[in-house]
Amino acid sequence: MNQNITVLKFGGTSLADASQFRKVCDIVVADEKRKYVIVSAPGKRFSGDTKVTDLLIRCYNAQTDEDRKASFDVIKERYLEIEAELGLSCDIGCEIDKISEVVAGGCTYSYLVSRGEYLNAILMAAFLGYDFVDAADLIFFDDNGVMDEGKTYPTIRKRLAASERAVIPGFYGVLPDGSINTFPRGGSDITGSVIARGIEAGLYENWTDVSGFLMTDPRIIPEAKCIDILTYRELRELSYMGSSVLQEDTVFPVKQLGIPIHIRNTNDVNAKGTMIVADAPPANDHPITGLAGRKGFSVLLIEKMLMNNQIGFMRKILSLFEKHNISVEHVPTGIDTMSVVFESATATPEAIGAIIASINRDLKVDYISYSENVALVAVVGRNMANRSGTAGSILTQLGKAGINILLLAQPSNELNIIVGVEANHYEKTIRILYDLFND
Ligand code: ASP
Repeated sequence: MNQNITVLKFGGTSLADASQFRKVCDIVVADEKRKYVIVSAPGKRFSGDTKVTDLLIRCYNAQTDEDRKASFDVIKERYLEIEAELGLSCDIGCEIDKISEVVAGGCTYSYLVSRGEYLNAILMAAFLGYDFVDAADLIFFDDNGVMDEGKTYPTIRKRLAASERAVIPGFYGVLPDGSINTFPRGGSDITGSVIARGIEAGLYENWTDVSGFLMTDPRIIPEAKCIDILTYRELRELSYMGSSVLQEDTVFPVKQLGIPIHIRNTNDVNAKGTMIVADAPPANDHPITGLAGRKGFSVLLIEKMLMNNQIGFMRKILSLFEKHNISVEHVPTGIDTMSVVFESATATPEAIGAIIASINRDLKVDYISYSENVALVAVVGRNMANRSGTAGSILTQLGKAGINILLLAQPSNELNIIVGVEANHYEKTIRILYDLFND
């Protein structure tokens, strides 16, 4: 890894208008190592505003030429305003007109939604005096839309060797036929990670509008503290269960080389932020790293005497879920019971009915029940391993509050403890567990 190179990514709110562009410029020039800047499209300037990417989607979906033009004019206005306020003359209007012609002739969805990043990168490159390097020349997907690492990483290394400092649009790359393909929404985070991996940067700074990863959802716990250090695996657990500071696939490219991700706040440069690293020693002062959760799970409970002696019983149950294309999240078991936990939205009532009928018919079980409206809460922390009492205190505290625990799962790496509760107890569970670990 090259410790003298930092890759930075700025999210949409960090680039929403000219004053945000100025903050970004100050951040970039404040450190020599900040050489490659990835940008999102302009985001919301105030609550109720619309992100440029959403305006582009609206434009694509417009039913009439008139509506399309109206949406496009709003987009054009936003870029022209930034260009004028920053005193730039990079002919952004001309670029927009070219895009407008392509759109009028018929274009793909991916092409149009990616233009927010493309235009913003042109403006930012001009403002910083850096090269503009198009992501279409750096990031390659195969025909299935999977990023081609074998082609992408060497190309990034070679192409960026010729540009000491550059601005690169986030969110997209190209398919083998040369047409644009995007990552999922929020995908500029992934672009930053891919560029950091390709150039083998020492650090990937992800600049956003919050001062790091909070211990839990601030809508439930407004005073939630910021996490200083998070490991990749903890991040994965927290993001999977609902924390949303980073797009959830962001971690994979940087993880290959162990490049740290530093979450920083564009609007509060003095805030410490959250450092996401390959490994970190347990911190003695707090037993858990974070709490995340989601509603919308269902549980199928199956009981059968001597289930533990029947080889293949679990496989038969799980293969029914596979047959109906339902992804299973957890399978907590007892001696004669097993529960299958899955996301309710992934299973139709017909599929559930068919699974229950097959189990009753072929597996002669003693009891079967199905519940919806289950919430899962994950207590995540590398500090929990080899430390006794965490699960015990969770159960005691929830018990005291009268919260019925529907299921409990803890993988043997002890990185997380998953508690299943009724969905209407979700917020209360988060509050109780947050207070338990933040006394
Ligand atoms: N602009 C895209 C979106 O809104 C990609 C990104 O910001 O990361 O999803």
